[in-house]
Amino acid sequence: MSSESIVVVGAGITGVSAAEWLRRDGWVVTLVDPVRPGDPEQTSYGNAGLIARTSVVPVATPSLTRKAPAMLLDPNSPLFLRWSYLPRLMPWLVPFLRNTTTARMHQIARGLSDVTFDANDQHRALYEGTGAEAHVAHGPYTILYTDRGAYDGDNLTRELRRQYDLVPEPLSRDELIERDPNLSAHYQFGTLYEDFNWITAPGPYVAALFAYFQAQGGTFRQAKVVDITPGDAPSVRLEGGEMLTGDKVVLAAGAWSSRLSKSLGLPIKLEAERGYHVAMHAPSFTAPQPYMLTDAKCVVTPMQGTLRAAGIAEFGGLHAPPSDKPPALIRKAVKRLYPQLEFERSEVWMGRRPTTPDSLPSIGESPRAPGIIHAYGGQHIGLTIGPKLGRLSADIASGRRVNLDLTPFRPDRF
Ligand SMILES: Cc1cc2nc3c(=O)[nH]c(=O)nc-3n(C[C@H](O)[C@H](O)[C@H](O)COP(=O)(O)OP(=O)(O)OC[C@H]3O[C@@H](n4cnc5c(N)ncnc54)[C@H](O)[C@@H]3O)c2cc1C
Repeated sequence: MSSESIVVVGAGITGVSAAEWLRRDGWVVTLVDPVRPGDPEQTSYGNAGLIARTSVVPVATPSLTRKAPAMLLDPNSPLFLRWSYLPRLMPWLVPFLRNTTTARMHQIARGLSDVTFDANDQHRALYEGTGAEAHVAHGPYTILYTDRGAYDGDNLTRELRRQYDLVPEPLSRDELIERDPNLSAHYQFGTLYEDFNWITAPGPYVAALFAYFQAQGGTFRQAKVVDITPGDAPSVRLEGGEMLTGDKVVLAAGAWSSRLSKSLGLPIKLEAERGYHVAMHAPSFTAPQPYMLTDAKCVVTPMQGTLRAAGIAEFGGLHAPPSDKPPALIRKAVKRLYPQLEFERSEVWMGRRPTTPDSLPSIGESPRAPGIIHAYGGQHIGLTIGPKLGRLSADIASGRRVNLDLTPFRPDRF
């Protein structure tokens, strides 16, 4: 047990998890964020809710380089680029493209498996007894394909998953309908993964973990960090000038971490990979479990009082306002899945995935910025791995050996 003090910057799923594990370790923890945990500004609020232990496939795959140019020109594709942003994207895009080789894909898949394989256990260890467990559901997860060609075209994904003991169960159209009679004829094949968990209200889930942290004595400062100074007694400067000093600082500001890292003298490569959701309130029926719609690259998840459809990858930076086309595409995808679905109202949300050029999160300290533990880069699986990044942050802060080779996740690897 430690009684040293630590400042955690950013209170999404990663920062709240780190703060709570550090508190359990005996640290005096101050969590800092301009918004409250569970706020819609956070990417942790609006995701698809999957504890995606099946996600061992990198964002960058060999086939993406072939498909991306056509996808960017196709208005119905789920990949968007604000062309005026391209020059600023280049320093990230070039290393991203270097990671699309088959050899890199296999190395990255190993790294992704290392951080996802125990995701259900990591979440359970964090939420048990906190009240956040009220927002966790259990069931299968099904990937839907329009036809045989689409199913066969996804062989590589299934093969990669098999290598990590994720065994798919193929489903025929009849088997799909038996499980979900509302499913339209648009989807003809499926693969099902058993023993899957999802979060039925990601914002309230983070808020409940945070409420527990506070109730147990953790401190929260609603403030923006403007820069961070590394060293033996690292400090963060808040907007307005106040300084907070600790024995360590954890940088867990999601897609905003790159700007703060620059202030440390450790520029990192991290993009805000923007995604959207459409939440349909009081739906006339709901999905029996989450679906991945492979043609729309969109996940449909039954949540508390809503059916949420989430997806799209849009590159346009942290600050651009939301675009109109992505939610329109998501709505079309839901219509194809469930033509009969009715709902009272719907709402659109946009969030920023923190995505590195190699799809792996950054976790650990760099000798170039001592005293600072980096914990970000969860890309499409940041909800899944947030509790593990949080626990690793606490292990690293306390100087415990971790049962994982952290080399592929070094924050200064680019
Ligand atoms: C459409 C969509 C669907 C997704 N679906 C899934 C899914 O099903 N499963 C999954 O595992 N992942 C999913 N993700 C990814 C996941 O949501 C993110 O990777 C994850 O939420 C990132 O968490 P975080 O805590 O790192 O960042 P965030 O939740 O974004 O939190 C970062 C925090 O840092 C704070 N911050 C920023 N600047 C400062 C500053 N200067 N000072 C202090 N604080 C600051 C912000 O206010 C924010 O609260 C999805 C993402 C999207 C967009």
